[in-house]
Amino acid sequence: MLNIPYGRQHITQEDVEAVVQTLQSAYLTQGPTIKAFEDAFAKYVGARYAVAVTNGTAALHLCALSLEVEPGTKVITTPITFAASANCIRYCGGQVVFADVEPGTALLDIDKVRIMLESHPKGTFSGIIPVDFAGHAVDLASFRELADEYGLWIIEDACHAPGAYFTDSKGKQQHCGNGRYADLSIFSFHPVKHIATGEGGMITTNRKDLYEKLLLLRTHGITKDPSLLQENHGGWYYEMQTLGFNYRISDINCALGLSQLSRAASGLEKRRAIAQRYDEAFQNSPIRPLAKPIDGGHAYHLYVIQAEERKSLYDYLRSQGIYTQVHYIPVHLQPYYQKLGWRKGDLPQAEKYYEHCLSLPMYPELKPEQQEQIIELTKTSILCEL
Ligand SMILES: *Cc1c(COP(=O)(O)O)cnc(C)c1O
Repeated sequence: MLNIPYGRQHITQEDVEAVVQTLQSAYLTQGPTIKAFEDAFAKYVGARYAVAVTNGTAALHLCALSLEVEPGTKVITTPITFAASANCIRYCGGQVVFADVEPGTALLDIDKVRIMLESHPKGTFSGIIPVDFAGHAVDLASFRELADEYGLWIIEDACHAPGAYFTDSKGKQQHCGNGRYADLSIFSFHPVKHIATGEGGMITTNRKDLYEKLLLLRTHGITKDPSLLQENHGGWYYEMQTLGFNYRISDINCALGLSQLSRAASGLEKRRAIAQRYDEAFQNSPIRPLAKPIDGGHAYHLYVIQAEERKSLYDYLRSQGIYTQVHYIPVHLQPYYQKLGWRKGDLPQAEKYYEHCLSLPMYPELKPEQQEQIIELTKTSILCEL
């Protein structure tokens, strides 16, 4: 029987050795590997600063804190995402306002966001959290323009999209998390994502003021930096200047991340090749993949198809040992958000998308013969339905 998950990590002997080296070094945490990973990651995405943290959710929380989200703050995001993209606003007591998605891509629909902004007094909203869903880079240049018109900040949830890019109006590739358009971008290093550290996350930004806040918030709001201290009693002295958290990542995790990062570009190429094989196999069939950018900038964290009889396809593939997944149950329909007043019918495109979406296995080490089996069984199941 097959046993193919929808996503999984790839650990090499080099990865193992990198971790062992750290275990044998002087620092398990707060050592040099964290900064090395941050610097290498910032370079990979083209941002000025990077802050590594315990996981992607902590990254989102720190972003919301650094942008001073508080009770009363209203933030717009998409319902087709992992719950954490919205929850970070709730952690700070802010209000999440979901706007609907585009039908073809399931990305946050900028026209819906614009309508929402236009239909409220200026100053109602504080920020937008677009998500590079499935690895499809959001056109952040357009979102930036809109955000500037209304004085909003942008947190880009780029968990699905390290290495992805969109092409700007001048024909230039703009990589997710490069700091050009979003105030802050976040990534996750959960094992199903592109780069695995076990648990881990990263924030990238070009804004020095936010970078410095994030460093403080990551470690209890405590600093020992002499240039920041209000007093100084001696070498032992530190100050807790704000209420922060312990969201530090360990050097052990970062050693794995650094080693994984060295293969990120080749892993991305493999994902793109797998997506192309799916695309070709599903041409002229009733299986409809999500729309993709024509510039090739998609990072394919997920390969999502839309199928008429999604549940029977899911069940059939599962019976054959192919474990697909649904991304996502619209966040506004989760009981917690329903308690806050959201209802079925509020976001029709997202709800319609959810009825039919299915994520097929997608990870760099998926073998061609495995993919052939997935394609065959998917087609068989769909044709039986007709
Ligand atoms: C994985 C993910 C997160 C959360 O990351 P964790 O590291 O699991 O906390 C947030 N947003 C999106 C879109 C994700 O896919």
